[in-house]
Amino acid sequence: MNKVPDYFGSLVFNDKVMKERLPEEVYTQVQKAINESKRLDLNAANVIASAMKDWAVENGATHFTHWFQPMTGVTAEKHESFIYPKGNDGIIMEFSGKELVKGESDASSFPSGGLRATFEARGYTAWDPTSYAFIKDSVLCIPTAFCSYSGQALDQKTPLLRSMEALNKQALRILNLFGVECVNIKTTVGAEQEYFLIDKNDYKKRKDLIYTGRTLFGAKPPKGQELDDHYYGAIKPRVAAFMKELDEELWKLGVLAKTEHNEVAPSQHELAPFFTTSNIASDHNQLTMEIMQKIAERHGLVCLLHEKPFEGVNGSGKHNNWSITTDSGVNLLEPGETPYENAQFLLFFCAVIKAVDDYQDLLRISVATAGNDHRLGANEAPPAVISVFVGDDIMSILNAIENESGYDAKEKVQMKVGVHVLPRFAKDSTDRNRTSPFAFTGNKFEFRMLGSASTISSANIVLNTIVAQSLKSYADRLENEDNFEEALHNLIKKTITDHKRIIFNGNGYDDEWIAEAEKRGLLNLKTTPDCLPYLKNEKNIELFESHKVFSRQEVEARCEVYTDNYCKTINIEALTAINMLKKDLLPSISSYSAHIARGIKDKEAVSNGINVSYDAEIMKKLNDICNYVYDEIKILEKHLISIDRIDNATEKSFKYRDIVIPLMNEIRSLIDEAETLTSSDYWPYPTYGKILFNT
Ligand code: ADP
Ligand code: MG
Repeated sequence: MNKVPDYFGSLVFNDKVMKERLPEEVYTQVQKAINESKRLDLNAANVIASAMKDWAVENGATHFTHWFQPMTGVTAEKHESFIYPKGNDGIIMEFSGKELVKGESDASSFPSGGLRATFEARGYTAWDPTSYAFIKDSVLCIPTAFCSYSGQALDQKTPLLRSMEALNKQALRILNLFGVECVNIKTTVGAEQEYFLIDKNDYKKRKDLIYTGRTLFGAKPPKGQELDDHYYGAIKPRVAAFMKELDEELWKLGVLAKTEHNEVAPSQHELAPFFTTSNIASDHNQLTMEIMQKIAERHGLVCLLHEKPFEGVNGSGKHNNWSITTDSGVNLLEPGETPYENAQFLLFFCAVIKAVDDYQDLLRISVATAGNDHRLGANEAPPAVISVFVGDDIMSILNAIENESGYDAKEKVQMKVGVHVLPRFAKDSTDRNRTSPFAFTGNKFEFRMLGSASTISSANIVLNTIVAQSLKSYADRLENEDNFEEALHNLIKKTITDHKRIIFNGNGYDDEWIAEAEKRGLLNLKTTPDCLPYLKNEKNIELFESHKVFSRQEVEARCEVYTDNYCKTINIEALTAINMLKKDLLPSISSYSAHIARGIKDKEAVSNGINVSYDAEIMKKLNDICNYVYDEIKILEKHLISIDRIDNATEKSFKYRDIVIPLMNEIRSLIDEAETLTSSDYWPYPTYGKILFNT
């Protein structure tokens, strides 16, 4: 078992295993459940459960769990063993169809945003047969959705599956108009994951990394990432060993880990998988993050998934590559060979442009977390303003359609959708524009604002739903037209005219662009508290309700959960900072200045009138910083107490944004200055230089 094709997917109850182990009619039922969302009956479920258990036990499993993603975004599991008492002292290993299909779960400790209080205290988990079961740490994990008893989604998977269904429904209407035979479309996702790897010993000495996942203090080392020498650089042996083992573990779990390389910042790396169906890509991304952390431990490392572990060097994100594919494998965002195929491509392309423009707020919300606020707009990640990069070639096609002019200066033929073949454009001419938050990259769109620690579900739920809405509006129009080609042409032309403001092919990091974006009326929602209130806007609730992705209560609940999460995160950071300051940082700085003071006294005792200006200045400076910071801590503590008393979550989040974060930043800059003045012997924590460059 040492060849990759032999062990790839060896811990997955996949199609191959099912084909081997299930009676033919049950296997067919599973296929229908996967491909056509048909329900499985209990008899079939019993047969599958038994086969699954036998396979799992043969592969060393003793327990099973319903594996799900509550609204916290991290996966949850509750292990139950297969054992069942038999006779007087014996046991057998059992697993029933009922246990496979549905699990009871006490939901009371998971965030529900009020859904539980209004409905039912308990929730249940329901098997998602479209994502294969797998074995992790001797536990058979069954991917499931998690709902309240009244059917309200308490997780990320339920709305993701609903959004895929919504998009499927509307895309099929459009394909039908083009005469394409297709039973099902699927959205596909490839999620590139960035992360940091640092030494475990350094990690264990830093309370901020342990409690908050990021450093709250730390002066810049002499060298950062300015030489770009880490990007794609040679991988250090310990990291290479980590990556090798990571790949092997992920491959066993059927995760299509494809590319591993160093990223821009020192100690930063990236893993890119081959793309797959959205909900599987989401499950796999969760698994990838979990396995990364586990394997890192084995190598004496810690994997940091936080969006901004270190000030002054790049943070980590995820790139969500997204497309739509028919059941015969045709990528609908791939320009075609014939005029008709091209027209179809353009329509789907325009549907995305329209969706992004109409629902900029939702896309921004889908990536909003306290951690990601450190990246967006910070000259390293895309700005908080959403725009679409389409590249020069497509831009000239769009311009030609809008202006009814020739595309090619030589040809001078009028660009007519559905009649003329689109000029071929080379994939690579769709430029490597790295500064755009949402870029067309030849045959897919790449949404680049996602944070590294978050689930990719939120972004894909929004993406699928808003594109479904564009397609719906198109289908509603086109289905009643006599002259389809004419109507199609006009529709595409109108989309370009109405929505071209969202297209921007230049440098997204440029301040001029932000000013220009404001002129164009685009939203610039800088922080999480800025954007979350938009979630409950009537237009957004209507969107989710009409496509049956979220009910009004579910939207409100999510808004509550996300806002609450923001507040809690900042509160934990503030409390951690205070703890570090009072227990370690101020005492260390103070000790060092006292040490200098004693030195001054000693020196003066030896030589009267000696020049001690260096010592005196440093001592005074450090002493002043301690006094000033201590006063600031008292102010911060007072604020934290009064903010805690605020009931309204949104109002609370504004206070954290406007009072707590600025105070913490101010304190940090003073402490970072003190770090540069304090002897290394006295500094209580591993420095940036030590962590990032091992100096
Ligand atoms: P890069 O962004 O580094 O140029 P690629 O364009 O090859 O790399 O791919 C980036 C990611 O996009 C990979 O995870 C890849 O699997 C994914 N991807 C490629 N085609 C599609 C598609 N049709 N749908 C979704 N993701 C895709
Ligand atoms: Mg990319």
